Parts: sequence; C-alpha cells; structure tokens
Amino acid sequence: MKNEMEQNIIDLKRRSMLKNSIFGLTAVVAASIIAPNAVYAADDLPVLTEADPMAMGLGYKLDATTVDKAKQAKYEAGQSCGSCALFTATKDGAGTCTIFTGKLVNDKAWCSAYAKKASGTSE
Ligand code: SF4
Repeated sequence: MKNEMEQNIIDLKRRSMLKNSIFGLTAVVAASIIAPNAVYAADDLPVLTEADPMAMGLGYKLDATTVDKAKQAKYEAGQSCGSCALFTATKDGAGTCTIFTGKLVNDKAWCSAYAKKASGTSE
C-alpha cells in the first residue's frame, strides 16, 4: 500500500514536471544548483488554489465538505488535509503537502491523493 502510494506520488510529480514550461523547469534546475538544501519559510509560501493545474488534476477542494462524491468516489466524509499522511501542519489552519511542494494547503482541504495518517501520528 505504501509503495503503491509512493509510486503514485512519483508518477504525479513526473507528470507535473512534464507539464511545466521550459522556464519553470529551468528555474527548478537553477534553484537546485544554487541552493540545493534551501529551506523555505512555510509562512511565505503561496496558498494553493483550486485553479492550480495540478490541483485541478487531483480534484483539490479548499473545503473538503464541498467535494462532489459523484466525481470523487474515493472521498469519504471527514477526510481532509489535516488527517492526511502527506500533510505537515505549519500554522493555524494550514500546512505543507509533499505533493504540492512550495505551496501552502488548507487543513480543511482535500484532494484525490488523500492517504489517511496512521493512528497515533501527532500531526
Ligand atoms: S495529498 Fe493530502 S495533504 Fe496533500 S492536498 Fe491531498 S489531501 Fe491534502
């Protein structure tokens, strides 16, 4: 299950990279050369919007309660970023997600890559 989830994440990142413009790809390469271990302040990150192309592809909704169950069969009531294994809370009501790197996600949001945190996980 975990390997399948990790593979899905890798596949999503590959697709996203391919969709990036040459400029975006160049910027990523340049950033990794200039500051390979850069740590970004979570508070400075832009907020992920539903209009983001990758967010649209994953059915991201800022408010999980508005997810259309007819379109997102995987969604179950009560799921949200705050209980997702890929989410790390950084401030009240928001945090980072390993899929949407460089963006801040709402802890009440949801996307189709949701993976329930193992019980006992404190974040
Ligand atoms: S993968 Fe998890 S934390 Fe990231 S946007 Fe989707 S539901 Fe939220």
